[in-house]
Amino acid sequence: MNTVATLSVPVHTSPDIADVPTPIASRLSPEAVATAALTALNAGKLSLVRELLNQLRTDTATQSRLYTAIRAERVDSLRAFVRELKTTGYSEGAVSPLARQEDSRIVAGCSCEECGSKGLRYRGFRNPDINSYRAVCICDVCGHWDEF
Ligand SMILES: [Zn+2]
Repeated sequence: MNTVATLSVPVHTSPDIADVPTPIASRLSPEAVATAALTALNAGKLSLVRELLNQLRTDTATQSRLYTAIRAERVDSLRAFVRELKTTGYSEGAVSPLARQEDSRIVAGCSCEECGSKGLRYRGFRNPDINSYRAVCICDVCGHWDEF
């Protein structure tokens, strides 16, 4: 999927735009900031992504389109991760109802390290055959997820 097209912003972005200092970035149009944020995301410059997203706070429409584009990519990677777990004998679920409750409570109190949104979602997977349990926290705003 072409996330840049989803945003309806120009694709002829200079890679350098992801490196522009904040005072310059603050004079860019919301679309240019969104493009810079996507470029920064693809380059793995997550702190810059956060900074640029902060500049879009007053432009919720552009911010929302950007999050949608980012989230789509993240959802795809999470799906691939879950598929991989399931092909190796894992099924959705926690070791116990108490473990699920506790892990859900912990991630619900965490903030997303990418976009700063509070309240992450929990998914757990277990493979009783090898006595293994793996859990992820998911940000439903930007789609960032991580195993914990
Ligand atoms: Zn997030």
